[in-house]
Amino acid sequence: MLQLESEKNETLLVKDLMISSEKVAHVQSGNPLEHALLVLIKTGYSSVPVLNSRFQFEGIISKTKILEESLGLEQFEMNRLGDISVREVMDPDVPCLKKNHTFIDALHKLIDHPFICVIGDNDEFDGIVTRREILKNVSKSYHESKNK
Ligand code: AMP
Repeated sequence: MLQLESEKNETLLVKDLMISSEKVAHVQSGNPLEHALLVLIKTGYSSVPVLNSRFQFEGIISKTKILEESLGLEQFEMNRLGDISVREVMDPDVPCLKKNHTFIDALHKLIDHPFICVIGDNDEFDGIVTRREILKNVSKSYHESKNK
């Protein structure tokens, strides 16, 4: 059913689908976890990219990881979060995309992650591709193929 449209999707590139870096909330790897938690709560996201001071991608930090870190023996100890840096807790082993990767490359990676970071040749952070953007395209293709 989506065969005709899938040809279009194969030529669609990550650079056409991504949210560019200036519109993406992020934290720096040297920031304390307390700051990262504030950013996550204020934006409403469950995770955001982590960058270094040269704007290069280093990993992803999530609310879950921060809450795990603040859990003491019997209760949450939020005062610990000011003493631990994002770098110590973030997940550095996440898949990334390049701007010239295709829609299908992004689709495969987004099966296991809510968003994928887009980076340049020197790890500079270019933006993210989200599940929402991919699903919007799939939905559009479905309706276009149905109306043919
Ligand atoms: P969505 O598919 O739009 O729900 O986005 C999936 C995830 O991507 C969100 O839960 C966030 O972790 C991340 N995300 C989406 N938009 C942004 C943004 N502008 N800044 C930072 N992270 C974002």
